Amino acid sequence: PAPLLEVRDLRVSFDTPHGLVKAVGGVSWTLSPGETLGIIGESGSGKSVGLEAIMGLIKSPPGHVAGQVLFEGEDVLTMKESRRRQLRGEKIAMIFQDAMSALNPALTVGTQIAEVYRLRRRCSQTEAERKAVELMDRVKIPSAKSRVRCYPHEFSGGMCQRVMIATALALNPLILIADEPTTALDVTVQRQIMTLLADLQREDGMALVLITHDLGLVAETVDRAMVMYAGRVVESAPVSALFDAPSHPYTRGLIRSMPRIDGASGALHAIGGTPPAAGRMPRGCAFHPRCTHRIDRCRAERPALRPVAPRHTAACHLVEEMTHD
Ligand code: SF4
Ligand code: MG
Repeated sequence: PAPLLEVRDLRVSFDTPHGLVKAVGGVSWTLSPGETLGIIGESGSGKSVGLEAIMGLIKSPPGHVAGQVLFEGEDVLTMKESRRRQLRGEKIAMIFQDAMSALNPALTVGTQIAEVYRLRRRCSQTEAERKAVELMDRVKIPSAKSRVRCYPHEFSGGMCQRVMIATALALNPLILIADEPTTALDVTVQRQIMTLLADLQREDGMALVLITHDLGLVAETVDRAMVMYAGRVVESAPVSALFDAPSHPYTRGLIRSMPRIDGASGALHAIGGTPPAAGRMPRGCAFHPRCTHRIDRCRAERPALRPVAPRHTAACHLVEEMTHD
């Protein structure tokens, strides 16, 4: 099928007192209807900034966005703001980490859930409230009818995230983008929210983009994943291949440092060092200061993404040399 969303060579940089700083450097990916994609990275890897750019949320200046973001063939970056706003409401919906503070404490959850729906569909208050109850049922908020007039402070963190998801679903989007949707929640609730997202995705057939630092969530929820490091994609593969045969040393490090099912901590295998600060990008492969496999070439030359298997690409000189031998 033709892609729903196609990101081509997306670049984002910002003016700073120290000059122009790159946050995203040439990222490309596509999303087909109904597909699930995970974008994995530590904080500062460019995963959220890339998303903001895609949604046209980066102010210029100080931000500079280049490349193309095609939604059903139409470039989001160059379209009129009014059209972009329409797209954001109707076709592409987003949920974020901090649901509690994203909600307005002075309005009932029902009012907030149905707000966009009421404005776009120009319906009555009664109709809007009926819709809110329906959406609360869909995201499995118990006793929706009696709780539609509750205020956010009467809800737990997990229930607030369900309210945000209900809000996002109000206009039946084709794409749901979830940026660290469970990071602020405890482990049991995280699992419930991810199960809900996966169920809704299957029921609706909408495409899902899950942005997270948590590989466990990716493994359970999406079909394909992209690993980002220092503003670039370093590996991209179907999730099964990514976990069974990770190619990039950074991906392998992330997988080794995952907490294990037997309860043993993965902390022993944590990758040494820290990601580079924006504006202090190492030459060559950005991962080389932390990489235990580096060769001379890594300091001088940046590796390009290359195929290592069908639908599986990685950006590493070592991988490239091995696959060519
Ligand atoms: Fe390590 Fe070199 Fe591969 Fe970068 S290119 S991940 S430094 S081996
Ligand atoms: Mg983020």
